Amino acid sequence: MAGEPQDDCLFCKIVAGTIPATIVRETDTTIAFRDINPQAPTHVLVIPKAHHQDAAALAAAAPEVAADVLRETQAVADEEKLESYRIVFNTGSGAGQTVWHAHAHVLGGRGLEWPPG
Ligand code: AMP
Ligand code: ZN
Repeated sequence: MAGEPQDDCLFCKIVAGTIPATIVRETDTTIAFRDINPQAPTHVLVIPKAHHQDAAALAAAAPEVAADVLRETQAVADEEKLESYRIVFNTGSGAGQTVWHAHAHVLGGRGLEWPPG
């Protein structure tokens, strides 16, 4: 069922605390933690605590939580003192999505090329 924890989901395990992560922020509905394989000086993932497979599924099922995730990306950027940053939602394996629990990448602290690869 949408939103329920999934036994085989890495990020549900991070939410549950059974897999460790470097958590930088937490709200009632979200957590933000450092990416284990950072692609920029700041690379933080903001996720809903509830399981949704991607950003669009999250927005459809729980739009208020999707808004919470976006609000938290700005909070992370503020804490990291980023004037500019990029929010990325890889959606689908062809776009590089590897974890099927919605997550916003917050990238900053270096020049960010546009268009991205
Ligand atoms: P994506 O490829 O867009 O699905 O993003 C998944 C991200 O999760 C990648 O950037 C991985 O480096 C990151 N990741 C995978 N395992 C962990 C972990 N245990 N803790 C933190 N980040 C992780
Ligand atoms: Zn999950």
